[in-house]
Amino acid sequence: MGSDMMKGHNRPTGGLDLDALRALAESRLKALTGQKAQVEPEDLRALAERELRALIEHRRRLVVEQLADGTWRSRFPETWVGPMVPTSYPEDLCYICEQPGADSVEHVVARCFNAGTVSNKEGPQLPAHKRCNGCYSGPEEYVRNSMVGFDDAHGRACDAAREDALSAMNVAGDKTGEDARHAKAKRERQLREVKREGGLRKWDHEQVDHDRWNAVLFKIVRGLAYWSTGLLLPWPAETEWEIHMPWQGVPLQAPTISSLIGDAFEAQAVLTGSGGRAVEGDFRLTFYQGVRARLYFRR
Ligand SMILES: [Zn+2]
Repeated sequence: MGSDMMKGHNRPTGGLDLDALRALAESRLKALTGQKAQVEPEDLRALAERELRALIEHRRRLVVEQLADGTWRSRFPETWVGPMVPTSYPEDLCYICEQPGADSVEHVVARCFNAGTVSNKEGPQLPAHKRCNGCYSGPEEYVRNSMVGFDDAHGRACDAAREDALSAMNVAGDKTGEDARHAKAKRERQLREVKREGGLRKWDHEQVDHDRWNAVLFKIVRGLAYWSTGLLLPWPAETEWEIHMPWQGVPLQAPTISSLIGDAFEAQAVLTGSGGRAVEGDFRLTFYQGVRARLYFRR
């Protein structure tokens, strides 16, 4: 799935259809002059060059040159920096707060979830303000620490993230001072949230920090949407969002967005919108191969 998403980098766009261009030019001339017009080959060549320049300018952010086989080479051949489609938003838009001036490139799915099991270059990345992204690091770690304890969580990334979670909560007892106090608070919170009933772990919904869960899930789907489609999602305050977590459901049949980051994270989504704004979206997320969430909204 990851390689499918990368097609956005290399999709051939160079082959301008000259017949279509001629038909378009002639219909425009007819509309302007009220007479049937014929576009001469020289005019068409000039027109094609202009259109091609406009097309290149349009794709300037992602494209540096057209290769001999008709495909385009991206400016970021090694990374997954999006958005992967041209947008009317400024290049330095921070996808988190929607303001320009992004001073950093950040992973849409925080690296703490994969715990070093995939390369840092992998996975969707977007421009953002360091400070905006930084606001989520506490909640992301909290959610990660909870998820690795879910009965359905498993796999290589989960094992590595579980090690990190145990360390963050100072289970080995090797932290001291301020670090140890922070770690103790994290550990006590996780213990408060989980009850054991007949050998099974049950989450105490009264104790879970739903705001932090929702913020983390919302940030991920916001990033996925902008990375893949250039559409910005409505804020939870603007539009009613349904967030189901954990969620027992089925994957989407015909997703328009797919994402896979090692065995740490998988997503499918359908998203529609116009004018740079999403109007309806349905996101199915899977963490650690078994921990599922669904987020849905309609404006
Ligand atoms: Zn920002």
